[in-house]
Amino acid sequence: MADANAAGQTILVVGGGISGLTTAVEAAETGYHVLLVEKDPHLGGRVSQHNKYFPKLCSPTCGLEINYQRIKNNARIRYLTLSEVVDIQGAEGDYTVRIQKNPRYVTEACTGCGDCSAVCTAEVPDPYNFGMRQVKAIRNNHAMAFPSWYYMDPEYAKTDEAQKVAKVCPAGAIKPDMQAEIVEEKVAAIVWATGWKPYDAEKILPYGFGQYANVTTNMRFERLANVYGPTGGKIVRADGKEAKNVAFIQCAGSRDHNYLPFCSRICCLASMKQAAYVRDQYPDSKVTIFYIDLRAMDRYESFLQKTRDDQGISWIKSKPARIEEDGHGNPVVVGENTLTGERYAMPFDLVVLATGMEPNSAVDAKVPYSEVRQDEYGFVTGGVLSAGCAAMPTDVASSVQSATAMAMKAIHAAVKRG
Ligand code: SF4
Ligand code: SF4
Repeated sequence: MADANAAGQTILVVGGGISGLTTAVEAAETGYHVLLVEKDPHLGGRVSQHNKYFPKLCSPTCGLEINYQRIKNNARIRYLTLSEVVDIQGAEGDYTVRIQKNPRYVTEACTGCGDCSAVCTAEVPDPYNFGMRQVKAIRNNHAMAFPSWYYMDPEYAKTDEAQKVAKVCPAGAIKPDMQAEIVEEKVAAIVWATGWKPYDAEKILPYGFGQYANVTTNMRFERLANVYGPTGGKIVRADGKEAKNVAFIQCAGSRDHNYLPFCSRICCLASMKQAAYVRDQYPDSKVTIFYIDLRAMDRYESFLQKTRDDQGISWIKSKPARIEEDGHGNPVVVGENTLTGERYAMPFDLVVLATGMEPNSAVDAKVPYSEVRQDEYGFVTGGVLSAGCAAMPTDVASSVQSATAMAMKAIHAAVKRG
């Protein structure tokens, strides 16, 4: 097996979700040195937040864990968490990048014992669960998080209590005075794999997300259905009532020039999967899916058929005009059936907006490189290599394929350099 020169032939992978992990392990296992940079405290990205994922509808935990093991067992991969690429100079084969390492306030000596969380009195909205519960200001995201080292919120690090909590740590791992630092690296290739974020549903004013407690989004629903989520996996409303009459609204903020003009490719299947979560949890439940048209990409036509065969799931071809709320906290979906012309105003326990994907490269993870090329929506098309949902809206399986292909392209650049 080749063992490429670390300094000149290193491959930089930006983003530690399923795409970035895949590129990193594929390139490293081929013999190339990889630097993996992730802005969050843990690897795993968006996939780690899912309850189940296609194609097998299993928990993402085991798939991610295999990748974490591959990283742990491969000395060619270095990874930085809570870090961001802030500048790129040069060209393929000879880039110079600057990376900002933000403080974790906890060192690698952390054993994950949890003593610090137990004594911490400060709570904050949990970003990993979209603010649906409060968590301690020093924590890790979940039991399977990788790396398992805890992290501290920056505002809490400034408090007197943080200094006291540091004294509780048996490993001496808590350092509230830790500072950000900039490091410079020479790399031969860059793979941008910064993934996506759910489109901001508050922008879709007629649907009342943020205004009505029982209008939620598909990514929030993944956490709601997850046993490690804010309700321990119980699909309930904000008031704790079991959600047995659930609506899904497709293309919420997608395929619409007022919001995201493109189709995100995954949200039809995501709603079918989530309809199954409801039907499995409550056999007497009802699900209604409002759609413009259904897109079951790739090999998932059979899953669409299975969903259609479920008598507890109804389909209404319509883009709802708006959501209102009745006097009992029930969201009422209002619109017109495109096939029959009938007007409807239907109350539900819970409405889930199937929001689409916004590339992080358009919002939170812009490529700091003058030669980068992006399409009109912000997906990365050139200047650096791009994998998964940094390149286009796509599902997990296709992201993995694209990430493997980008590992090969990055190796090609590193070989030319060598
Ligand atoms: Fe335990 Fe220290 Fe890690 Fe907190 S930071 S989990 S106290 S080892
Ligand atoms: Fe709409 Fe379905 Fe495309 Fe998502 S995948 S944007 S819900 S058509």
